Amino acid sequence: MKINIIGAGMAGLLAANMLRRHEVEVSERNTTLPKNHTALLRFRSGAVSDATGIPFEKVTVRKGLWDGERVINTPTIAHLNRYSAMVTDNELHDRSILNLESAVRWVAPRDFIELMARNVRLEFGKTVDRPRMDHPVISTMPMPAMMKIVGWKDIPAFQFKPVWTIKAKITAPKSHICQTLYNTEEMEWYRATIHGDDLTLEFMHQPCWEDEPNNAEIIAAHAVFRFFNEHKPTDYTERLGIKVENVSINKMAIGKIMPINDTLRKEFMAYLTEKWNIFSLGRFATWRNILLDDVVQDVKRIEAMMHGAGAYDRRLMVS
Ligand SMILES: Cc1cc2nc3c(=O)[nH]c(=O)nc-3n(C[C@H](O)[C@H](O)[C@H](O)COP(=O)(O)OP(=O)(O)OC[C@H]3O[C@@H](n4cnc5c(N)ncnc54)[C@H](O)[C@@H]3O)c2cc1C
Repeated sequence: MKINIIGAGMAGLLAANMLRRHEVEVSERNTTLPKNHTALLRFRSGAVSDATGIPFEKVTVRKGLWDGERVINTPTIAHLNRYSAMVTDNELHDRSILNLESAVRWVAPRDFIELMARNVRLEFGKTVDRPRMDHPVISTMPMPAMMKIVGWKDIPAFQFKPVWTIKAKITAPKSHICQTLYNTEEMEWYRATIHGDDLTLEFMHQPCWEDEPNNAEIIAAHAVFRFFNEHKPTDYTERLGIKVENVSINKMAIGKIMPINDTLRKEFMAYLTEKWNIFSLGRFATWRNILLDDVVQDVKRIEAMMHGAGAYDRRLMVS
């Protein structure tokens, strides 16, 4: 079967890998591999690794919460609410910091996106701006853009927030474990992870050090000190010789997405499939905060739908 995939982000490339037995072509509007994801990629299971045949590293992640003074392992309601307000725009939900037990995760290799793009037929610089009916299409472009293309009336307000990351290499001390710290301090990173010599910090705002925007080296070094529970970083600089290099700041434009009406979301995806033979895949095309583990399941469902599930089944499968 011939299948066209719109978008060479992680969802599009994952689908291209999983659907290899078909004649798959990926159209990407950028002129090079977009590499839209800049945080550490970690998964709850080995499903993405199994689906792509790309080996992942199975790690135990040690977790803690920096409360402004020390690293703690039992958050209070106040911590939970501060963290939730910080990452969800003042809405209070249960968040991952509730459970700071160590957890097993699967970490993707650094060149995961390049590896997924290998042996995939990819056409760069190709913006899809109209539906095609000659064969099935999997779209990973954001839902509002697709709504415009097919002339959907009453497009709702899609809201989202950017996420910034700081990436750096820790050349000393060496880390042979994976550690994640959450943070409830205002105007700081909300999650910091050390994995091997990689440091990743995630922010809901543009990283800024004492009114000096983009002073990423200082911010990265300070985050590392938090892992040592110390207020006077200079002591540790001398004793441990902490060195942070290759620091970069990156912005993920659609970082966190705010939900839209769920019935409308499903209705639009069902309409796209029934009327245009277009299947929605990935975080932005289905407008829900999912991880790639969930995308693996969705690719399997889409393939089943392409193999002739009737309209009734298609409706049931759109979720
Ligand atoms: C801080 C942070 C941490 C995260 N951590 C994880 C994690 O650990 N594990 C995980 O699974 N997920 C994680 N995610 C989520 C993950 O980053 C996203 O789910 C993923 O990047 C979305 O990929 P995508 O392929 O769906 O969309 P995109 O990356 O946006 O890909 C869509 C592609 O379509 C192209 N496109 C758009 N319109 C057109 C058009 N008209 N014609 C042609 N091409 C077009 C775009 O150029 C783009 O390349 C995290 C997200 C954030 C913000």
